[in-house]
Amino acid sequence: MPDQVRTQTLRVLIAGGGVAALEAALALQELAPGRVDITLLSRSADYVVRPMTVQEPFSYALARRYPIDRLLGDGVTHIADDLDFVDTAARTVATRGGKTLPYDALLVATGARPAVRYAHAITMDDRKLDQLLHGMIQDIEGDYIRRVAFIAPERTGWPLPLYELALLTARRAWSMGIDLQTIVVTPEDRPLELFGPAASQGVLNLLRGADIDVYTSAHAEVPQRREIVINPGERHLQVDRVIALPELFGPAIVGLPQDSLGFIPVDECGKVDAGPVFAAGDATNFPIKHGGIAAQMALCSARSIAALAGEPIVHEPLDPILRGILLTGEAPRYLSARRHGGHSFDSTFTEEPTWDSPTKISSHYLSQRMAQLEGVPVTAR
Ligand SMILES: Cc1cc2nc3c(=O)[nH]c(=O)nc-3n(C[C@H](O)[C@H](O)[C@H](O)COP(=O)(O)OP(=O)(O)OC[C@H]3O[C@@H](n4cnc5c(N)ncnc54)[C@H](O)[C@@H]3O)c2cc1C
Repeated sequence: MPDQVRTQTLRVLIAGGGVAALEAALALQELAPGRVDITLLSRSADYVVRPMTVQEPFSYALARRYPIDRLLGDGVTHIADDLDFVDTAARTVATRGGKTLPYDALLVATGARPAVRYAHAITMDDRKLDQLLHGMIQDIEGDYIRRVAFIAPERTGWPLPLYELALLTARRAWSMGIDLQTIVVTPEDRPLELFGPAASQGVLNLLRGADIDVYTSAHAEVPQRREIVINPGERHLQVDRVIALPELFGPAIVGLPQDSLGFIPVDECGKVDAGPVFAAGDATNFPIKHGGIAAQMALCSARSIAALAGEPIVHEPLDPILRGILLTGEAPRYLSARRHGGHSFDSTFTEEPTWDSPTKISSHYLSQRMAQLEGVPVTAR
């Protein structure tokens, strides 16, 4: 509706409590002040910096948690509930708690659903990584373990933590003088290939420097707890532990379009073919599942919603820039690339950040807000 005729604020409902949902809520407050009435639907009270959980099994500090209400401030109503289904004809959302919430614009940012791919492996789950892996690290430190494999299934979305866990594990063993063989098996043609050739080469050099054996363009099977089979070649390896990334599926929200894996199809501005509905982040069919990309998608959707609310904002399609910080057990490395047409360009791999205010998940509004809250007590776990 054009600016002149819109007399009421636009009721914006955002479902989710991760980086995409929070980035959109913060962006909208700034892009369309006074024109939007924002409600965030998320059962979680806290925002957890998920990437930092990879350090927890190694006895580093717990990943930080920020109370969502403090991140968002008074401009957003937070309802502690989950989206159940969407009625696009009535423009309402039903919650699992039994409420019906109307919307003028809906943004779905409920993330992907991780699923176990290998019954005989330990599947990475960032809600309890310490619980899953701390025992293995202790066994390595006690010299009870000789060989550990880190494997990625075909349909995975978060390759970064696989390499981080491998590097952190190898580094811990090395620092204690323990002789451990660390193996990475990935379907990627090059390590972290999303970040482009320079970054892949840099990561490969790091892995080699840490004596990690890397099998690329490879598919792993885990027929039993202490065995992996690497294809092509049907190579059987005996290992003491297998750590696997989960497979990712979409949220399969009833009432919204979805692809065969449950992801929500979006256009280049995050628009869903279902009325004034947008989606951002891991929940969508965008092929890259990465926090920094989720934040960029959220910003794109927020701009479109601000335009719906009457702000003179021009639609800007997503122009994805991948930025990542790789934890290595020593100094972190900074990776970046632009993506276009399914290819990565301008790949960088550096020891110093090449972008301003680097955070593990790169975002514009959320990173700034988190920095403002630094030093303010956060929720302990
Ligand atoms: C261990 C690990 C390390 C990673 N490292 C990096 C990294 O270094 N850099 C990087 O950029 N990315 C990294 N990623 C990927 C990044 O964390 C994700 O891409 C990002 O979190 C996606 O954000 P999102 O908001 O789309 O979804 P999520 O973070 O999954 O958030 C979804 C939110 O929606 C809520 N929700 C779910 N269902 C519902 C519902 N029905 N109703 C309402 N709310 C719901 C959830 O509780 C959650 O709060 C990593 C991921 C993992 C697991």
